[in-house]
Amino acid sequence: QSFIFLHFIMLTTLTSFVFPLLLPESLPSELQALDIFTELATDPISMSSVATDFGNLSTSFPAAVFYPSSPKDIAKLIHFSYTSTKPFTVSPRGVGHSINGQTFAPDGIIVNMLSLGHGHYDGCTIVTEGPFSYADASGEQHWIDVLNATLKHGLMPRIFTDYLYATVGGTLSNAGIGGQAFRQGPQISNVYELDVITGTGEIVTCSRDREPDLFYGALGGLGQFGVITRARIALEPAKKMARWVRLIYTDVKLFTSDQEKLISIEKTSSGFDYVEGQVILSEAQVPGIKSSFFSDNDIEKITRLAVQNQGPIYLLEGTTYYDDSTVVTIVDANVKLLLEQLNYESGFAFSRDVPLVDFLDRVHYEETVLRSLGLWLVPHPWLNLFVPQSKILDFDSRIFKGILKENKAAVLILIYPLNRRKWDDNMSVAIPTEEVFYVVSFLWSAVANDLDILQNENNQVLSICEDYKLRCKEYLPHYTNPADWQKHFGKKWSKFVARKQKFDPKALLSPGQQIFRQLQ
Ligand code: FAD
Repeated sequence: QSFIFLHFIMLTTLTSFVFPLLLPESLPSELQALDIFTELATDPISMSSVATDFGNLSTSFPAAVFYPSSPKDIAKLIHFSYTSTKPFTVSPRGVGHSINGQTFAPDGIIVNMLSLGHGHYDGCTIVTEGPFSYADASGEQHWIDVLNATLKHGLMPRIFTDYLYATVGGTLSNAGIGGQAFRQGPQISNVYELDVITGTGEIVTCSRDREPDLFYGALGGLGQFGVITRARIALEPAKKMARWVRLIYTDVKLFTSDQEKLISIEKTSSGFDYVEGQVILSEAQVPGIKSSFFSDNDIEKITRLAVQNQGPIYLLEGTTYYDDSTVVTIVDANVKLLLEQLNYESGFAFSRDVPLVDFLDRVHYEETVLRSLGLWLVPHPWLNLFVPQSKILDFDSRIFKGILKENKAAVLILIYPLNRRKWDDNMSVAIPTEEVFYVVSFLWSAVANDLDILQNENNQVLSICEDYKLRCKEYLPHYTNPADWQKHFGKKWSKFVARKQKFDPKALLSPGQQIFRQLQ
């Protein structure tokens, strides 16, 4: 990574000689008098590096890209805009793993957050304080780097997203969900303290007791209240190995009731540490689940079941963490006991023992494979929803067995339940009101000129949620007008607006979310 960063610095330095910075008209000329002016770039490499995102669905160029060397530089830039007669928008960009241009800042400045790390991604400070061990990680760090740094102390964060190459600030601006969230809550529930640069350019340290409004606002706040430059992340003792179990179902009722049974078990000793699941719409999509887990024989067997079933099949995924070979017999006994209580298809339980890091970093393996096939940077019209427990069977029959019945596209559809009590209602993120709600993620890859078809299917999914009052909430939401945002946030909207007026009164921050218009 240091090598890549060095290469990147050399390229940007080189291009700044070839393309000396000409200040675009949308930016105030007084910027040139600031000492941070040299950290701005408008060269083609910089501009194209931020012009799209992982979704690869749209393109937008900012007026300039900012490469800060410290949080103070970001504070200076924002404060300058805030006090300028010609204010401009400022959008922090982590890795740009958004789908719908959430990092864009047309006519504004995109802050390349990775520039803060200077390639030194092991700069996580670990503090061990009994049950309250924590890591102070800067906002631009990738979660994989936080994991690697904490493992050196025998510790690790309590909850991970499925993919570890997003930044700390990027996932905390959304929620950060994954298979451990049923027990631990989302990543935003596992943070003790933040450093945030507000829309006035002030650097504020906040927590549940200190500036709580900013703390709760920033967590799940879609970048609207400030730039997160440090997060104090809760840790737990790390384990070394994972018993990774996958079970196949043909009956959605048995599948969901087993998932719900598993997420109701609070004790790590008697339940899984991680619970997720998938829907496989038809036999055509079975090979897509192969990954590092299933053998060719397993895939053949599951394909036969899918053909025979003539409808979606479901995959329940559970993982138990453990330390070393001495406890394997205990793990065997616990998992056996758990599986005896579950109603999967007989003969369709699959299990692997893998190093825990390999399990947590499993999507990176997929990334490597897809990159080698040229399939990683294709358009991704992803749609992520939270579906109330009482509506999940209705959702299944109208969508998986309804409009998507004939769908043969390249897709991974995640489905797993979470416990609402692990979320804090003070935080910005909007979730359903029921105690248990499901994550349903349509992770489409448009590989066969089928982008329009997939986007159309997403729209149909959203229409069904609306028409049949399924009360779904979008996760990683995308709306383009205030009325839709107001509906999305529901009762939280007035607090969201009040926090915006307090912490970013000129609506300078993260304009790509399209929630507020910049105020002059
Ligand atoms: P960016 O896309 O760069 O930014 C996202 C938004 O946050 C933008 O509005 C930006 O302005 C703002 N922002 C960025 N950095 C900061 C900061 N430091 N302070 C304040 N605002 C900031 N999410 C899950 O919850 N669970 C998953 O399992 C999961 N799996 C994923 C798998 C893949 C392959 C991908 C591509 C994404 C996945 N995501 C998942 C979504 C991911 O968590 C979000 O897209 C996240 O925002 C990505 O982080 P980023 O650093 O790329 O943010």
